[in-house]
Formats: sequence, structure tokens, C-alpha cells
Amino acid sequence: MVEQLIIFSLGRASTSLSARKFHTSLRIGFKMPSYHVWTVGCQMNESDSERLSSGFSKMGFESTGDIATADVVVLNTCVVRQSAEDTATGMLGRIGKRMKGNDDRMIAVMGCMVGPEQSELKRRFPYVNVWARPQEFAPILELAGMKHGLDPEGCLSGAVPENPNVASFIPIVHGCDKFCTFCIIPYRRGRENSRSAFEIVHEAELMVARGVKDITLLGQNVDSYGHDLRPRIDLADLMEQVQEIDGLERIRFLTSHPNDMSVRIIEAIRDLPKVCEMINLPFQSGDDTILANMRRGYTSSQYLEKAFLIKDMIPEVSLTTDLIVGFSGETDAQFEKSMDILRAVEFTKVHTSEYSYREGTFASRKMNDDVERAVKKARKVAVDELQQEIQGKNNAILVGKSFDVLVEGRKRGRLHGRSRGDKLIYLNVPDGLGVPESQVGDTVSVEITDSSPWSLEAELPVTQAPDERGQVKKEKVPVV
Ligand code: SF4
Repeated sequence: MVEQLIIFSLGRASTSLSARKFHTSLRIGFKMPSYHVWTVGCQMNESDSERLSSGFSKMGFESTGDIATADVVVLNTCVVRQSAEDTATGMLGRIGKRMKGNDDRMIAVMGCMVGPEQSELKRRFPYVNVWARPQEFAPILELAGMKHGLDPEGCLSGAVPENPNVASFIPIVHGCDKFCTFCIIPYRRGRENSRSAFEIVHEAELMVARGVKDITLLGQNVDSYGHDLRPRIDLADLMEQVQEIDGLERIRFLTSHPNDMSVRIIEAIRDLPKVCEMINLPFQSGDDTILANMRRGYTSSQYLEKAFLIKDMIPEVSLTTDLIVGFSGETDAQFEKSMDILRAVEFTKVHTSEYSYREGTFASRKMNDDVERAVKKARKVAVDELQQEIQGKNNAILVGKSFDVLVEGRKRGRLHGRSRGDKLIYLNVPDGLGVPESQVGDTVSVEITDSSPWSLEAELPVTQAPDERGQVKKEKVPVV
């Protein structure tokens, strides 16, 4: 597997030709070439972009936030919905205009827009220098290296991010075997391909050594992890191994398929202390005919049975879901069945999308996209309103309760982080304290003071008083 090469080649990177050129260039004052990776889409894309960026840094490229001046621009694309594809093609068009006539600059496109057949893309966007399929970064780094005289050896795909966020992602299984009729993913990311547990644990150890405390194991269908490995292992086995890593505080995983969410995995979530009590379990529709047309492989009652089994086994679980409104032929009555599921389960969060016809899928060949746009929009609004009510009610109950928050960042004078159940919690800093930088990466115990349907609020614990020089002493924070 490609990733195996990467992990084991990390050590060589520091002594590679690229690193030597980098230091030489610094000595004689050359400006190093710059890169910018623009990303749209899911966590898998975010993770791919982090790894590609790490490869660029190892080669000696400098990161720039300015897409207009970067020597190498990479667009990491998503085509899961029409809106995401439009965003990517719009950006590609704008970048293409800016780069016209400037042969020194390079543009690369990766991600789900790039399928096995690329001739149409090449015709539409002739100025793109390199097209790379998801996770296959090597051609991008190789061409960038050739253009700028930097050696990509030891820096190729899958490299562990050099400066990862405190909460980061690790892809554990690529692709999907399910072939839901509406979904383009299996055609773009290929069949399921699990990475070895050894490789994943090694990568997790490196990330923890670089400050990561919260790791989300990623897969389009993460709970089918390991079925293609010999000897066979499953997600529960993998989480058991990852949990042994000292310094790692939290383990999460995304995204599950109801048919692959086994009792063994639910028990692991319940019993392994570092595994957070949260599950994203997409139901997509509450109507059995629509579910069959989507080829989801379960009925609404089977879905509910699984959802309530999880709630029984893990009472504090945070259950989130994905729902499509306006799939081919969906009537008002069928849509109402989706609303019934929302009322019955009371999910912590719902990701709702209006059905988006995707060329190349089974649905695009055999079914009509016949629900009017206005109807899809109205159904999405109805879901959002119902969900806002449910989340508002359930979050209000949490006021006065205590949570451990892993602080992930700061925004507009406040810190923010998440609970184990993935609740977004804003931490207000008492007057005069400023925003203490050192808090990011700490886990603090807080009591919830306020709530909204989308987030919770708390005060930073009062024990974090500034010292005589007005500095916040990190050691006074109750770290759990
Ligand atoms: Fe797409 Fe998810 Fe269905 Fe796989 S399981 S085909 S990724 S919707």
C-alpha cells in the first residue's frame, strides 16, 4: 500500500536531497517556492490536504495563505453534491484566468472531481498541470519538485502532518463497497481498502508526539474497517490498539453504515475509556420504498432498532445522522416518515442535504430527479426547524452540568472546544484575562452556563487568575 511506504520513509526525509537543497538555499538567501492547498468537502479531504501540505513542507516549499501568488496551487475537490462541484469548478475557472500566460506557476487538482476517466476534465480545464485521484498525491509533488528543483523522495503521499491540530484525522479505510444508488463516492474513491493496524497505530503515535490529543478515525464506511485484511480485524480491535497510546485522550470515528455497526463496536465504544460516546449513523430516509431505491440495505424499523440498541447500551451517546430530502419520487407522505424518525430518535445533530443528481450514479441512469427544487428546499427548512427545536430543548437541559472540554482554538475573544460527545462549547474568558494562548490543547472541566441549539457556553474556571505580571498560569488550570 502507498501509505506503508510513506510512514517508513519519513525518517529519510530529513536527510534527503530536498532537505539539503532547502538548507543550502536558506544559506544563500533564495526565496523558496510557495504552495497553497485549497480544500472543499469532507474530513477525508481535510486529512488528505494536511498530508499533502506536510509533503510540500518536507520538500522545502513554503506555505502561503495567498492563492493569488502561490507558485503551486492545489485544489482538493468534492463532487458529492452539485453545490460542492460548482464551488470547485468556479474556483478552478478563476485560478485559471489568473494563471494564464504564467508558465512558472503550477496548478493541480485532486480529490473526488478526479475519476479514472479524465479526458473531459482535461478538455474543459487545459491549463491544469496535473490531475491526481484521491489520496494519490505523488504526481503533484513530483511535478512541483521537477519545476522547482526539489526532490520529493521521502516526502510522498500519506505523510503524517507536521503541525497537526490538537484534534486531527487519520484515514483508516479508503473507498466504499456499498454503491448506494445516489452516491458518486465508490466511483471516485474506489472499493474499500483498509490500511494495516500497524501503520495506523504508528501514524497515531507520531501525531500524538506532535501534540494531537483527539484522533478521528476516518472512512467513508468506517465500521467495515478490516474486513479485507488478513488476519481479519475490525474497528473494535483497532480502537483497542489505538487506545494504548500514551498521551492520546480521545478517539472518534466517522462515518458509519447502520448495517456494519456491530454490537462488538458498540461495546467497544461503551467500554474503552478513550473512545468518545458519539456515533454518526446516517439514515438518509424514513421511508422503506425510498430506502430500497437508494439501495441502503435496511428498512426504517431496522434502522430504529439499531439506533435504540445503541441508546440502550450507551445512554449518554451523542447520535448524529445524515438525511437526504427530495430523492427521486419522494412524496410528501414519504418525507413525513423521515420527520417521524427525527422525532423518535432526537439526534444531537443532523446533516441534511437536498438530493443532488450525480452523473454516473445508478440513480442518474435509472431514476428521475423529479422533486422540484422549491419542494426540496421547503423540506430542508422543515427538517432544520424541527431539529433546531429538538437541539434547543436538549441543549437547555445541559445548563448547570459539567463537561470536560478539550480546547481546540480561539475565536473573537473566546476559546472553544468540544466535549466527548462532540458538543461545541465556547469558553468565555473572565474580564481582564485576555485569551490565554496556552489553553489550546488543554482539557478543562467547566460548568455549562448557557445554551443554544448549536452550542453551549461556559466560563473558564476562576482558578485561572493572572499572576502579578498579568500572565495566566497554565499550571493553575484544572487539567483532567
Ligand atoms: Fe456513498 Fe456512504 Fe453509500 Fe458508500 S455507504 S455509497 S459512501 S452513501
